[in-house]
Amino acid sequence: MARVFNFSAGPAALPVEVLQQAQAEMLDYQGAGMSVMEMSHRSKEFVAIAEAATSDLAQLLDVPDDYQILFLQGGATLQFSMVPLNLLGDRTSADYLHTGAWSIKAIKEAGKFCDVNVVASSESSNFGHVPPLDTWQLNAQAAYLHVCSNETIGGVQLNALPDVACPLVADMSSDILSRPIDVSRYGLIYAGAQKNIGPAGLTVVIVQRDLLGNARSSTPGMLDYAVHANGDSMSNTPPTYAWYLAGLVFKWLKAQGGLDAIAQVNARKAAKLYGAVDQSNFYASPVATADRSQMNVPFTLPDPELDGEFLKGAEAAGLTNLKGHRSVGGMRASLYNAVPEAAVDALVSYMAQFEKDRG
Ligand SMILES: *Cc1c(COP(=O)(O)O)cnc(C)c1O
Repeated sequence: MARVFNFSAGPAALPVEVLQQAQAEMLDYQGAGMSVMEMSHRSKEFVAIAEAATSDLAQLLDVPDDYQILFLQGGATLQFSMVPLNLLGDRTSADYLHTGAWSIKAIKEAGKFCDVNVVASSESSNFGHVPPLDTWQLNAQAAYLHVCSNETIGGVQLNALPDVACPLVADMSSDILSRPIDVSRYGLIYAGAQKNIGPAGLTVVIVQRDLLGNARSSTPGMLDYAVHANGDSMSNTPPTYAWYLAGLVFKWLKAQGGLDAIAQVNARKAAKLYGAVDQSNFYASPVATADRSQMNVPFTLPDPELDGEFLKGAEAAGLTNLKGHRSVGGMRASLYNAVPEAAVDALVSYMAQFEKDRG
């Protein structure tokens, strides 16, 4: 078996134990005589898979009883439209924090439905920091406040949230399940699965039930959270196989000791990589120390001319998908839950060797 260390930003690494279980169950899922892909979503086997995944996720995140968990399609990108369509109600404006590439996409889409008040922006630092809480210009009339908890491209992560009267909405696509959170602080959380949950094609939404049922009347049924909630995410055919794999990932996370345990591993992984960057005069981080993401770690080399050689050597060492996003340059290592600590150790020693040879 030739598995590489995969630092992809998404779709991203999955736990090898999960892939092995999926492989073992591929032809015959627990005596059903068929794979999960071939099953009716109404079958007792699949309904049990769906219910277990839902309750395991609720347990991992300690989701309060008055929240609904939805398993949808359309990616996090469709949530950029579903959130305003469902949560504006009779309000005409919403607050958005602008911390990078993903927030701006959410802002642009919301602008089709309402007045967007950008509460603060870190554009001046090329999104290398999070605007301090006390600079956010909140609007008392906002229907909700939207934030991106972790900017996957820029590599900044929110560590504090304001107390607001309106519902707080968070795009957690790239840091959900990486550490414990207090779900009760949020009105709605959404995440595309392909970073820290499972395969692409699935989007998880966790929403306070009070917020359901207020979609504007022209909202297509498929974009109405209430329709999906009433149908237990099966108002049409859900992404069954992705839901099953997500369920295996939730069980794997529970076996690791849950979010407290994985958060410690994630903190250690990130500290090793940032430590390697900070103690060298060769590598640099474009992100302010306090706002650095534990999941997506961009770093640059002293000369972009070296990038190609760095990537080629990394690939040869089994370290793959390290090329940074073009808007940031350099490298980006995504350290999601399924990326083992050994991957970070291998990356750090490759970086040290490359610096010795080229620095
Ligand atoms: C990947 C990502 C998205 C987009 O997800 P899709 O599933 O491709 O729509 C949105 N927000 C964040 C923070 C992301 O990391």
